[in-house]
Amino acid sequence: MRIAIAEVGQETDSFSPLTTDLRDFEGFGLFFGEEILQRMRGVGPLGGMLEVASEQPTAPTLLPILRAWAGAGGALTAATLEFFRDRLVSDLKRLLPLDAVFLALHGAAAAELEDDVEGELLSAVRGVVGPDLPVIVTLDHHANITRRMVQHATTLIGHETQPHDPVDTGRKTARVMFNLLAGRCRPTMAWRKIPLITPQDQFLTSQGPMKEWFDLAREMERRPGVIDVSPYPMQPWLDVQEGGWAVVVHTDGDRKLAEELAKESAAKAWSLREKFWESARTPVADAVRQAVAAESGLIILSDTGDSVYGGSPGDSTCILRELLRQNVPCRTLVPMVDVAAVEAAHSAGVGARIQVSLGGRVDHVFSQPVPVDARVAGISNGVTLELPDRGPCDLGRAALLEIGAIRLVALDSRTFAINHPSLYMHLGLDINDAKIVVLKTASNFQFFSRWRKGLIRVDSPGTTQSDLTAFDWKRVPRPIYPLDPVSQYHP
Ligand SMILES: [Zn+2]
Repeated sequence: MRIAIAEVGQETDSFSPLTTDLRDFEGFGLFFGEEILQRMRGVGPLGGMLEVASEQPTAPTLLPILRAWAGAGGALTAATLEFFRDRLVSDLKRLLPLDAVFLALHGAAAAELEDDVEGELLSAVRGVVGPDLPVIVTLDHHANITRRMVQHATTLIGHETQPHDPVDTGRKTARVMFNLLAGRCRPTMAWRKIPLITPQDQFLTSQGPMKEWFDLAREMERRPGVIDVSPYPMQPWLDVQEGGWAVVVHTDGDRKLAEELAKESAAKAWSLREKFWESARTPVADAVRQAVAAESGLIILSDTGDSVYGGSPGDSTCILRELLRQNVPCRTLVPMVDVAAVEAAHSAGVGARIQVSLGGRVDHVFSQPVPVDARVAGISNGVTLELPDRGPCDLGRAALLEIGAIRLVALDSRTFAINHPSLYMHLGLDINDAKIVVLKTASNFQFFSRWRKGLIRVDSPGTTQSDLTAFDWKRVPRPIYPLDPVSQYHP
């Protein structure tokens, strides 16, 4: 049994001023060939697939091609997409004949000249392997499902939870693949587009309307003949031609059932549309006041407009400016992507005082630099963390700046560790001493859950802000709710 495997994952924020190239992928570990089998054990969808593969009665021959993952950011450069496509095509040609291809994709990647990165990659893969070979695909559930993806993939199976459990998605999908290869099932796909985009405020699958929608998917999977039901609430900053929510249903050879369930699931999401738009966002000044007044910490201030995991630059000064204005008296941890500040701190050295303008450089539409007088309390040339489920994560160069009660870590890159306690701990800080932490995410607070006493979603502006009506949408199909009135929708 010969199975080619690869991962290409990136989530594009169309409103981000950044672009994404191979260096961004290198920061998370860009691997080729056999190295993938060693490095991806227990990590991501490939990790889950490797686990299931090792449990097969007859060991399959796994043929690793490429592992590229880059979190969220701006659109891929044309050359980066071309590199991935060429690598997949040339390696697949070399590896033929195959029994299956297992691809871990994100589903919400766009490139400079291509709205549908995954559709483009899948169509290239299909071009090599022919119309009948199983092309088994896992996706992030914030994917944008397109006609080309459905046409060229055999499965499109998404995460069951937010925060995601990518290893589990890999396991689930691998089981489908091995059942298919053993002749025990014949996945048949149906899907529906839903003319809807919503902000991230209701994205957690543990509560509210998202729980209702995802619970229905799990319930449907218990019905006879159903293999997988994957709801896809597209991440909300993707302005592309076929943008919008979707659901994909896989049944065991039963087209009619797949169509019925896709219709039922889409209708469910549509019926909840107003609930998906409910939002509890606190104005910045109130958020800071509430955090300071809280009985005890740690209070998380979620910088929703500058979510690095959503693709923002991580250099918004909106909350920092307010912390300074209110002269916060308690220990407050703040991350900030600012290469110039890192350079200034490194050349001044530990103990020196520096005057710098912080942040507001990459994105200067939504926030402006803030001048500060800071003491350099620590510098670091970076460490590489091994994050469970995620793999290697390079912290890059950093500097710890003391500004009154604020402890700000300036970073030279948009590292995934920006929302991780290691960012502060590796510079000698104890999280227990802090009352407030600013996180550049709107959903992924799990790394601080040990200390968390409260969470305030700050209504901060930025390229991942919750007010989606404020963006200049150019490409999503119209009408789409709630940018336009959609009087009726019949899935
Ligand atoms: Zn996601």
